[in-house]
Parts: sequence; C-alpha cells; structure tokens
Amino acid sequence: MKMSKLFVQTLREFPSDAEVVSHKMLGRAGFIKKLAPGIYTYQPLMWRVLKKVENIVREEMDRAGAQELLMPFVQPKELWEESGRWEVYGRELMRLKDRHDREMCLGPTHEEIITSVARDGLKSYKQLPVNLYQIQSKFRDEIRPRYGLLRGREFIMKDAYSFDIDEAGLDKEYQNMAQAYKRIFERCGLETKMVQSDSGAIGGSVSHEFMVITDTDAGENDVFYCQNCDYSANSNHAVSKLPEAVVDGKDYFKETKVIDTPNTHSIEELSKFLNIPSTLILKTLVYIVDKKPVLALIRADKTVEETKLMNAAGGIDIRIATSGEIAEFMAEHGFDAVPGFIGPKGMSDLKIIADETVKDMKNFVVGINETDKHLVGANLEDLGVELNFTDIRLVERGEHCPDCGKPLFVTKGIEVGNIFKLGTKYSKPMNAVYTDVNGKTHPYVMGCYGIGISRTAAAAVEAHHDEHGIKWPLAIAPYHAVIVPVNIQDELQMKVANALYETLKNSGVEVVLDDRDERAGVKFKDADLIGFPFRITVGKTISEGLVECKIRETDEVVKLTPEEVKQNIIDAVLSLEE
Ligand code: ATP
Ligand code: MG
Repeated sequence: MKMSKLFVQTLREFPSDAEVVSHKMLGRAGFIKKLAPGIYTYQPLMWRVLKKVENIVREEMDRAGAQELLMPFVQPKELWEESGRWEVYGRELMRLKDRHDREMCLGPTHEEIITSVARDGLKSYKQLPVNLYQIQSKFRDEIRPRYGLLRGREFIMKDAYSFDIDEAGLDKEYQNMAQAYKRIFERCGLETKMVQSDSGAIGGSVSHEFMVITDTDAGENDVFYCQNCDYSANSNHAVSKLPEAVVDGKDYFKETKVIDTPNTHSIEELSKFLNIPSTLILKTLVYIVDKKPVLALIRADKTVEETKLMNAAGGIDIRIATSGEIAEFMAEHGFDAVPGFIGPKGMSDLKIIADETVKDMKNFVVGINETDKHLVGANLEDLGVELNFTDIRLVERGEHCPDCGKPLFVTKGIEVGNIFKLGTKYSKPMNAVYTDVNGKTHPYVMGCYGIGISRTAAAAVEAHHDEHGIKWPLAIAPYHAVIVPVNIQDELQMKVANALYETLKNSGVEVVLDDRDERAGVKFKDADLIGFPFRITVGKTISEGLVECKIRETDEVVKLTPEEVKQNIIDAVLSLEE
C-alpha cells in the first residue's frame, strides 16, 4: 500500500470528547470515525486490526473444537418472552417494530436465539457436546457509551455457547474455553488476568473475566489479587479476611439505652461524638432495587458492594435512594428521621440484608429512626427484625487473601472477555432438551463465552502506546511495517525504498511505502501515531549501503543493510504463524 493512496486522515488534535488514551489515539490516527454516540465507522486501518483479532479468535475457537455460525442481528420478541428476558432486560435492549407492528430487538447477545437453534438441531445425547460461536456486531443502548471502542453501543463481539449433557461436561468445556482464551489474548500481544467475577442472581453459577490490567481511567473494574497465591477477583465478587477489630462495645457501654447524639449525620461525626471506633457502629443504608427500597446493614467502617447487594436482593437494577425517597418511606413507616439516624427498627416489611460483618457485633450503636438519637449498647436481638447474613461488603486494600491470608492488592482492569456457566438458565424455560440413553429428556447444560473484539483492539492501545502514538503488537497491527524514504526526489533513496517495498510485500509482509512529498518529520510523526511495529527509513546513509530500522515497541533504532532489515522483519512476521 502506498501512503498516498491509503484512506486515512490523521488529525492534529485528539477528538474533543475523548477521555481515555485509546479513544484519543484511535481518533487522531484516523482509525475510527464517530457517527453518533457509541457508534463508529471502522476506517480501513481499524478494520484491518479488527480482522486480525477476529482471525486469531476464530483460529483458536476452531482449534478448541467450536463451530462458527452466524445468527440474525434482528431478533423477534417471542423468543425473549420464552426466556423471560423481554420484561427484565431494561433499556439497553434496543426495541423496534416492523411494518406489521411486530416487536423486535437488536441483538445485544444471543442466548435466546442459539437456544432455539440448538433445540431444533440437538435432539439426542449422541449429538452432544457442541460449542457454537459467531463473530458479529451487537447493539446495546448503553446508558453511558464512552471511551470510544471500549464501551460502544454498536460493537463487535465473539459469542460462543456450549451444550452438554451434564455439569461434568460443562466443567470440561469451561476449562477448554479458559485455555483457548489464554492463547487468544497471548497471541494478540495482551497480558491478561483471569479473575473470578459476579455471575448475577442465579445461584451457584461460576464465571470468570479476562482483564487487561491498566493503571489508567479506562479500567472500569477494580481487581483484587494476591501476590502470594493465584487468587484474583473482580471487586463485585471479591472476598477477604478482615484484620482483627473491636466489635464488642462492652468497654464503652454498660447498658442498652437511647441517648442524644445531636448533629451526628456521618459515621465520622458519630464516632467522634461517642469517642468510639467506627467498628462499633451498625450502619443502615437505603437502596432502591428494582424500584423497591431495600435496607443494607453493615459494620460502619466497611462499604457496601452494590452488585453483591443487588444479587442478595434478587434484583437486576440497583441505586442508592435519594433523600426524597428516604423521607417518603420514613413517613410511610411512621418516622421522620433524616439520614444519619436510620435503622432497621420497625422496617420488617422491607427487604433487609445484613452483611456478615454484622453477625459478630455486640454492644454496638445503631440508628432508631429518630433524628439526633441512637441506641447504644445494642445487640442483634434489640433490633426487632429478623436478619439474614450475606456477604455484601466491598473488599478494601489492606484486607487479606481469602485463600492464603496474605495482603490483597488492587488494580484497575478492562474486561476483554468472559466465560460463564449458565447451567439450565435458558434451556429450562425454553424447553431446549435432549433425550438420554433411556429415552428421558433433560435440558442442556449450557455455558457462554464472550470476547469483545473491538474492545480488545482498544485495550491493546491502552496497553501499548507512548505520548507519540500507538505501539501495535505485531500480530494485530494494521500493517507490519512502513518504509519512509526521507527525500522522494532522491533517486537512490527511492530506488532502494521501492525495491525493499516490493520484496517485503512479496514475502508476505504487510507494508506501507510513505511516498508522500512531505518533510521527513511529518512522515515520522504519522508513523509513530499510527503505530507501525517497524519503520524503515531510507535516507542519506544509503550511500554507505545502510538504512535505519526503528522498532516502535522499544523505540530502538539500528542501522542495517536493506538485506538484513528484510530478513529481520520477515522472520518476525513468520514467527507469528502458529
Ligand atoms: P461490561 O460489564 O463491560 O458491560 P458485560 O458483562 O456486559 O460487559 P458481556 O455481556 O459478557 O459483557 O459481553 C461479552 C464481552 O463483550 C465483554 O467481555 C466485553 O469485552 C464486550 N463488551 C460488552 N459490552 C461492550 C460495549 N458496550 N462495548 C464494547 N465491548 C463490549
Ligand atoms: Mg454490560
């Protein structure tokens, strides 16, 4: 490809709405063009990258025994009603009507469709196990599309679904997919961590996410990990051992009584006022889960993890209650306390979820729904409500690994893929069954396995760049190399550049010849910005028979003969072949 012909417009500035590196660089280097929020054109350079990621994914899925198909992007409501998700999916599901007024949606994921495909085709245990996958655009009307390709509304995903006769079969396929994912991300030049993660309200399910670890804002997930053993988990799922703490207030409170605690609206103010550690305070928070108030009880030095709470409440949507909503439900229960003085007293008609930290508390302090008052020296039986204890606590730095007891560390991660044991979540309601040896029918035991193709490409930019631009890993770079003749008027330079271009091209190297009549500085800048793994500069040193080869990843520059350069690059490219 000649640079003069390449369809690319690099910009002087970063796109004005870009907050993270990958969005800034992919925009400025001309890889993507925004059409609407979260909706992008993948320009030719981007499309080459995406096709490479797709092909690595395809090769490894095929190697792992999965079969590729392609399902429709537009899906009828009826299948979503069968699974029960039409009602609960929420506004991320883009719904529309056809000319006959039939309701449809744009596929955000394909569990319903694949389950209907499977139930028509997989009738007998003899046909199982099967793993089917596709690579396709998805649409989710994300509430906050942002960060360019990292969280788009239209994006490309690989989604795979496995069908087994039993849990043991699923376990095996789950491991098989975990191995395939490791190979996929390694081949893409990405270091990932496989972490335990939340698997929603379905009890007993297992899921893992593959995270690209990053210290930038682009990492939307907190990952807790142990350096001593291999424990690692998304914060929405992580658990820990707590250091020792004072949880019995017997040295502070000799009796159980209500006392005045004026203006103690925060935990800090209350513990200061009473001169006690915050570990002796029972904190009550009000959340709205699926439109209904839920009370969360937790030891006051700890924080509620919202996904855990949402799962414990059996919901699919959660947010903290507004002060207006709190006032409203206080009034409904005959109280008028303001936040800071709320407690479980008299609330037994509501869902109350207590964290496990509450279980061991004795002679503690708790709100009783009266402003400027607290009950001190209280015990669980004084609360007047029945409590179930569940882990709804956010793990924090400094707490200890649940497996080996060593300190946990936290870092940010970008989720590029996940693997999920679905069990019979879809096969059961959709009556997708196989017949066993004895002629009895059973629902398939399913797994699902996603990879964000476009997100993976953007995550690669987050992980590989410097202030000048992208440093594509060779395996997913749009082109392997660029040849820059410093002066296109110079006959010798052009002759060498052209010859090198032809031989590299003929040896399977994807190469761009920057034949533009521009200053060398401009061409170098573009080469760095676009992120070609190799830049070969043909300049004055050609009179000594040498060209310059720059390796973008390390910025290392070496002077070599054209023959040596050619061999080095060809070797590097050949080593990509599996
Ligand atoms: P997230 O928690 O980031 O919203 P998710 O759990 O909704 O992800 P899945 O439904 O499991 O994601 O989708 C599988 C993969 O698709 C994810 O691991 C991610 O790589 C990718 N993905 C999900 N949502 C988006 C999006 N809005 N833009 C780009 N890629 C996405
Ligand atoms: Mg999502």
